[in-house]
Amino acid sequence: MQNEFQNMPENFSGVFLRSEKEFKKLLYVSPSVKKYFDFSSEEMIASPKLFIKKIDEAYFNDVKEFFRTLKKGIPATVDFTVLKNEDEKFLLRFRAVPQYEGSEVKYIDAIMFEVHDELHQKALLEESEKQLKILFETAEDLIFILDASGNFVLVNGNGALSLEYLADEMKGKHILAFIDEPAKGAFIKAFQRLIASFTVQTFETKFQSKYGKSIIFELNAKTVFDDQKKISGVIAIGRNITSRNSLQDKVRDLSSKLVEARRIISVERDRAKQRISVLEELNRLKNEFVSNISHELRTPLASIIGFSETIDSDASMPEDMKKEFNKIILDEAKRLANLINDVLDISKIEGGKIVLNKTEFDINEILKKSIEKIRAYAEAKRITLSVDIPPEVVLVYADEERITQLFENLLTNAVKFNIEEGRVTVLAQNLFKEYEVIVSDTGVGIPAKDLPFIFQKFYRVSRPGTEIPGTGLGLALVKQIIDHHKGLITLQSEENKGTTLIIKLPLLNYQG
Ligand code: ADP
Repeated sequence: MQNEFQNMPENFSGVFLRSEKEFKKLLYVSPSVKKYFDFSSEEMIASPKLFIKKIDEAYFNDVKEFFRTLKKGIPATVDFTVLKNEDEKFLLRFRAVPQYEGSEVKYIDAIMFEVHDELHQKALLEESEKQLKILFETAEDLIFILDASGNFVLVNGNGALSLEYLADEMKGKHILAFIDEPAKGAFIKAFQRLIASFTVQTFETKFQSKYGKSIIFELNAKTVFDDQKKISGVIAIGRNITSRNSLQDKVRDLSSKLVEARRIISVERDRAKQRISVLEELNRLKNEFVSNISHELRTPLASIIGFSETIDSDASMPEDMKKEFNKIILDEAKRLANLINDVLDISKIEGGKIVLNKTEFDINEILKKSIEKIRAYAEAKRITLSVDIPPEVVLVYADEERITQLFENLLTNAVKFNIEEGRVTVLAQNLFKEYEVIVSDTGVGIPAKDLPFIFQKFYRVSRPGTEIPGTGLGLALVKQIIDHHKGLITLQSEENKGTTLIIKLPLLNYQG
């Protein structure tokens, strides 16, 4: 055996044959023929047709073609199956090569061997190709190949459908035509990055479907190179992440709501804390008030009891002295009555039970009367009263008793919190729409830290060492009266210099 069969591996398990030039008469058949056929090499040499009969009919045409080629003096190959018996079937490859002597074919050398393995591999390959194709077509993802210019060469059916196209409608078209207009700039940039790299690039892009829907895909793409290392195209797989993105949006939205809720909770918590501290403060003020009021009640009561007992126990007391003591008893009783009235008033006003008894009267007149009432008190402290009230009638429509109470409270405070030999200035002005009274003193003043609370009931400035008795109801009452008359009160004060209170009340005919 020569030529191409000479290099057969030693363990080659096929059949060698040699025939004369027409393949009618066999010159040699190796004994291994027994492996694939139910006859021996001798039997085959005796009757070559035995072998033809064993070939599966389905291959007859291929076999005919094989002999035709061979007749022309050209090497030929054919594959066919043979049925040795019921159980044994072989797929054989028959390769024959004419051997020449000069230009004449002298004989033909042939080999026959099992190609089962090779075909099996091919079948496997075909099978996996088929599966790949199924995968390609049924995949929910968008799978595509672009040529070097960016045109679609291949796109899977489902992928195309997710963009509301048929695959054929996309083929040949440029990918940019399918990108959402505003996303084009970013897509071109990502594409340039992809082309400049050898690795898989992942980027998001917004496609536009046939009917105008925006669909976000996450693309995993890679450039493909040809033999000359030139880009021959791009292969990519894209996942529709529109719903993922909208879920992410929802998560983002929810978490910002959560942050907001947390903020509200913390604000509410602060407010609750504040409310508790206000309640605690109120409680503290109430306790202080109880002890103050007990003190305020006890002092006049003590002098009332003391003086009346003295009168009672001393029958020979001179009339003058009796009168004087009686006057003290009366004054103290009045002080008590005033105090009790204040307490009752404030609770009445706060309970919303106050009914203003409004009448038309001259407010200048009332102010002058109130000043007269505290004149003795001021003189006792050698305080100068400087009064400037225009001699005119200024009419208001208000509760005369309450306005009197208001003036008296302001004037009393101006004297009470004043220094010995200080000054109290009272100015009244008709501002045509409203009436203004300024009460200014040269007293101890109010520290800035106390100013915001000064109109709260029971609130008193604590002045350790120089405590001035009181209940903390006066200014609260003043503020309530002003509010009920739709007026205005402002207070300016400087510690150790003095305090100025300005009130404004609407005039008759200018009430809101
Ligand atoms: P009271 O005089 O019964 O203590 P008020 O409600 O009249 O209560 O006043 C509240 C607080 O405001 C007082 O404790 C006092 O310290 C302060 N105050 C009021 N008027 C003056 C004033 N003219 N000068 C200084 N402090 C004042």
